[in-house]
Amino acid sequence: MVENSNLNDALKRFNEAQEKSIALQYASSILFWDASTGAPKSGADARSKAIGTVSGFAYQILVNDQMKKDLDDLMEHLDELSETQRVLISNTKKEFDKLTKIPMDEFQKYNALTSKSSMVWEDAKEQSDFEMFEPYLTQVIEYLLKFAEYRGYEGHPYNLYIDDFEEGMTVDQLNVFFDELRARIVPLLRRISESGKRIDTAFLTKLYPKEKQEKLSKMLLPMLGFDLERGWFKESVHPFTMAVDIDDVRLTTRYHENDFKSALLSTAHEGGHAIYEQNISKDLRGTFLATGTSNGIHESQSRIFENNFVLSEAFLGYLFPILNNEFEEQLDELTFRDFYEGMNKVEPSLIRIEADELTYSLHIMLRYEIELGLIDGSIKVADLPKVWNEKMESYLGITPENDGKGVLQDVHWSEGLFGYFPTYALGSAYAAQLAHYIRKEVDVDSCLKEGNFKPLTEWLNKNVHQYGSLKKPTELIELITGERLNSKYYCDYLEEKYSKIYNLK
Ligand SMILES: [Zn+2]
Repeated sequence: MVENSNLNDALKRFNEAQEKSIALQYASSILFWDASTGAPKSGADARSKAIGTVSGFAYQILVNDQMKKDLDDLMEHLDELSETQRVLISNTKKEFDKLTKIPMDEFQKYNALTSKSSMVWEDAKEQSDFEMFEPYLTQVIEYLLKFAEYRGYEGHPYNLYIDDFEEGMTVDQLNVFFDELRARIVPLLRRISESGKRIDTAFLTKLYPKEKQEKLSKMLLPMLGFDLERGWFKESVHPFTMAVDIDDVRLTTRYHENDFKSALLSTAHEGGHAIYEQNISKDLRGTFLATGTSNGIHESQSRIFENNFVLSEAFLGYLFPILNNEFEEQLDELTFRDFYEGMNKVEPSLIRIEADELTYSLHIMLRYEIELGLIDGSIKVADLPKVWNEKMESYLGITPENDGKGVLQDVHWSEGLFGYFPTYALGSAYAAQLAHYIRKEVDVDSCLKEGNFKPLTEWLNKNVHQYGSLKKPTELIELITGERLNSKYYCDYLEEKYSKIYNLK
């Protein structure tokens, strides 16, 4: 047993370490922001050296013998701590174990492997040569299996890797989830393809000057509920959101002059992430809990703004006259119907990141099945191109012409990122489930028709955002909706929306 004064000392040391760690995180975030939003390329070497040094310090602060002892002592006395402290200590202990259960020399070898492997992947993708990448991916998977043994897991080894990104989610739950998606979205897509309805999207690729798109994004963000006074909005090659503090949340978008949807939807998407971070309770400030709770829940906040709100008939109806004013030439003679359908057109495509709202999750389902198979050995790495193409054909009805556009399209696997993809689909499904429950309290369509997001954002602030990481994703969804993740809402939503657009009976 530890005396009370010792417990207080342990807490004090923990709080000091947390404060230092957050300060270092802050510093490396700013370095990253700088690098992504216009810092000169010529400074890249110095910058990456600085980032490396800062993260080295951050590691030492959290991973040391004193911290191990303190966390062990505190874990024994969890019931004497406040709710925030309890979550904080158990989360940090989990993170600590993750970082220390794998022998350092093996972890370093693995890091060297993944950095080589992502370089090889880049060439393999360009040359569309899977065999070049195959031995690296094989080794990455061998490491993941070995690490799973070191770290320990329950049930399926893949549970461990899902849990890294979506705590509490398991293979059993994901199987049920994707089974329903497979059973309902694949036939829905087939009916859409067979409907014979052609939607003209020529208006989307006309010339939309960057300045005007920027003006539109800057009008949209505060309308959704992002506070520009407490954040920063810039441009970058890959849009992203970064919170260095509740009162300093930064986000970016990108502008393509011949692609009208790109900036508008990226801004709405990142706006959703950013609004989440801006509305975390200030009681959590200065702790590791002052951030979104999981990848899936974070993604639900971006998707709900992007898909359920901005791409809805109600909101686009509000936006259309404003756009007509701004882009008179580009939208000339276009009816609202044509505009709405063009914005929501379904078109199976090879590349996940270019996918529409409906087919997006099929890309994720395909990757989930493959990841699971690679981890449990039922799919051999050498067979991947074949497996990939068969699944693409069976779910999306298209086969890539080469592996560069197929199995090699994403960088994630080369970096050992397994268990990450499913959170993208979970995000859309959580979004639909939340949207269903918002409707019980707020007249969503009337709000969207008037461009009034306030009641919607406030509902999300109160039910999702304020908690930061205090509640685990599974806990949060149950708390808000009274049930666990339920894919029914997502499938219902997609069926209703797209049956209407494609006049399906
Ligand atoms: Zn996102």
